[in-house]
Amino acid sequence: MFTKLLGLKATFLSLIGATVLFALTIHYQSIYQTQWQDKLNVITILLYGVLVITALFSAQFNRSRVTLLCLLWGLFLVTNDYSLPWSTWLTANNQWLILCGGALLVLLALIKDRGLISVHGIARLIFIALCGALAYGWLVLVDMAAPMLPKHQITTTLLPLMSLKVPLAIMALLLLWQSLRQSNLTLTTLLTGFIVWCLMHFQVITLPWTAAIGVLVIHHLLIVIIDAYFLAYRDDLTGLASRRALNQLALSLGRKYTVAMLDIDHFKKFNDTYGHDIGDQVLKLVAAKLAKVKGGGKVFRYGGEEFTIVFPRKTVEQCLPQLDALRQSIADYGMVVRKPQRKTKQDRKGNPPPEKTVSVQISIGVTSRTGKQQFEQALKEADLALYRAKKKGRNNVSE
Ligand code: GH3
Ligand code: MG
Ligand code: MG
Repeated sequence: MFTKLLGLKATFLSLIGATVLFALTIHYQSIYQTQWQDKLNVITILLYGVLVITALFSAQFNRSRVTLLCLLWGLFLVTNDYSLPWSTWLTANNQWLILCGGALLVLLALIKDRGLISVHGIARLIFIALCGALAYGWLVLVDMAAPMLPKHQITTTLLPLMSLKVPLAIMALLLLWQSLRQSNLTLTTLLTGFIVWCLMHFQVITLPWTAAIGVLVIHHLLIVIIDAYFLAYRDDLTGLASRRALNQLALSLGRKYTVAMLDIDHFKKFNDTYGHDIGDQVLKLVAAKLAKVKGGGKVFRYGGEEFTIVFPRKTVEQCLPQLDALRQSIADYGMVVRKPQRKTKQDRKGNPPPEKTVSVQISIGVTSRTGKQQFEQALKEADLALYRAKKKGRNNVSE
């Protein structure tokens, strides 16, 4: 079945961001070429600083894959800049380096963010070694196969591509697919890293490695910062703004605004009947409906099955039609949900879990700020209005 491309927007924006960063760097490098050479030492020191900061910052925010990536970039740069015991071997085996680097980025896209120093850390080291071995094995295999294959036009054109370009293209597609099918910012920066890694090796980008990796690490850092912002201000389940974001908005509200508290009716009974997993899916679908509110309303998940909508610069009368339209649209909404666990034998044979159509209703309490009321007081008033809506028989909007 067709999977929704949940990561399309994040991937697109991330790639645009990387393109801008690289375009600026290439532009300034060409303008200030001589000064650039003079300042290479400073740039190198700065780069190592950014690498260390990004690695620590990512570790702090449990983005251990980015930390690991920074360590690998660091290792690569040190190998390039200083003559280490393996530096000459790497220069002589450039194809292996490219392939192994690509494979490591794919590996990072397939594993989870888990503690660096743990059992998982050891498993990762084994996987990293495996990537190196696979890349080596592949190159040896292509080398061995070359003389054995019949001399034909197809083989002579395909063989040179088989060692590097074909596996890299497959890896690129795999990374792109991973990045597109789930909304995960780390995956977008891994994809960016892979693209830059290839473009640098094929000399499409002609920056010094120090600069290219410096820009890439800045991209990683920005992604981790944006991710951390979402972690703090977005609700994980519904994707709506969180209560913390509501408190933040409260500080910037003017004198006039309307606030509504929304609560799903009899949700406990709903959970008891259909199970918590279906309850979660319904919360997501309700949140998606609420996010479409008109009239400049800002939607937040207040907690549990309760939501808040704030309409800056609006009176209750102006908001009532929008709120009632929301209530009605949710009451009329037949939500298609799936039971996530495959339990029956038939299901295990590969049949998708059965779909079910369910519906819920919501009650809404709404109030406008009066006098010099604090936001917390207005919220309390809206909560009391919600209580009245419940008492009136639910599925209505009360003032
Ligand atoms: P009322 O009409 O009076 O609001 O009744 P209610 O059952 O909705 O109210 P109550 O506050 O007693 O129960 C809220 C329920 O919402 C309790 C809990 O099972 C459910 N709930 C809260 N958060 C979540 C969540 O994140 N996921 C799921 N599935 N259920 C949740
Ligand atoms: Mg409730
Ligand atoms: Mg409820």
